[in-house]
Amino acid sequence: MIKLINPYIPPREILLPRIESVLYSGYIAEGENVKKFEKEMSEYIGNPNCLAVSSCTAALHLALLLLNIKYGDEVISTAMTAEPTNIAIAQSGAKVVWADINKETGLISPDDIEKKITLKTRAIMVVHYAGLVCDMIAINSISERYNIPIIEDAAHAFGARYDSFKLVGNSRNIVAFSFQAIKHLTTVDGGMICLPNDVLVKRAKELRWFGLQKGVSRLETNITEVGYKYNMNNVTAEIGRVQLSCLEYNVDKYIKNGKIYDSLLKNNNNVTIMKIEGDSIPSYWIYTILVENRDKLIEKLALHDIEASVLHKRNDLHELFNYSRNDFHNLDYFYSRLVHLPCGWWVNVEDIKKICSILEEGW
Ligand SMILES: *Cc1c(COP(=O)(O)O)cnc(C)c1O
Repeated sequence: MIKLINPYIPPREILLPRIESVLYSGYIAEGENVKKFEKEMSEYIGNPNCLAVSSCTAALHLALLLLNIKYGDEVISTAMTAEPTNIAIAQSGAKVVWADINKETGLISPDDIEKKITLKTRAIMVVHYAGLVCDMIAINSISERYNIPIIEDAAHAFGARYDSFKLVGNSRNIVAFSFQAIKHLTTVDGGMICLPNDVLVKRAKELRWFGLQKGVSRLETNITEVGYKYNMNNVTAEIGRVQLSCLEYNVDKYIKNGKIYDSLLKNNNNVTIMKIEGDSIPSYWIYTILVENRDKLIEKLALHDIEASVLHKRNDLHELFNYSRNDFHNLDYFYSRLVHLPCGWWVNVEDIKKICSILEEGW
């Protein structure tokens, strides 16, 4: 079976000695390994303000707290995502206001964001869904014109680029990454928040650790604001450091595979491939296509031992968000035709050729 999702774990002879050395070091809590992981991540992303946290959900919640989002506020978001994006908004107490997507990309529509802005809008949550990068030129321009901050959920977009110079995370916005089990770079569980300036760093560090100041003696530290237990530990961080040294076997392969799909499918009349915004380079966490008779295609692929699926339920269908129901024509179109194909490090060129020839035959 060619799986849709498969975690990349570095070779045991490289990974296990590193984990072992931390486990028996006498210091497994948040310490030097986390600092080194943050430094190496900051260098990779090109943003000095990257902080390790326990999950992407924690990073998103911290982002909302840093922007002082609270009960009664509105946050514009997309329903075409995994639940944590919008659960984090619910955790902050704010109301989710859906914007429709662009049906050529599956990503939040800048035009519809602008239509949904009210006097209560305090933030806009965008998701680089499936590793495709949102139209950040249009979205950043809305942010500037209305003075509303943007949070980027980059759980699917580790290694993706806004353009040839800038990796996702090197942004004027707050960006959240996931190192959860099924994401490009996994530390089993974990996440990262990338901040646009160092002013936010001090408060972010306190908020991820009960509101306490790390490094200050417990008898002298002074809590002024409720914080959370959102820190990363040394063992997790060391796994992350090893993963970061293996990107050529991991995220680079997703990108290579995605580009092969793009070129093999661009003239296939049975499928619509996703439009890539501007000069961005997706990290193709899963490869998204739109087709008619989607269920029949998924069945046919399964008969050929290929796993394909829709993966996520559109979030506006959850009862929790009933208060925000609305009509979304592009989302209806996209969600009823969407299929995700395997694209990760374990997929080889022959697999992709086989999948594309099935897509050529029809179903
Ligand atoms: C996985 C995921 C998250 C949450 O990541 P965790 O690290 O598991 O908290 C957030 N947003 C999206 C789009 C995701 O797929």
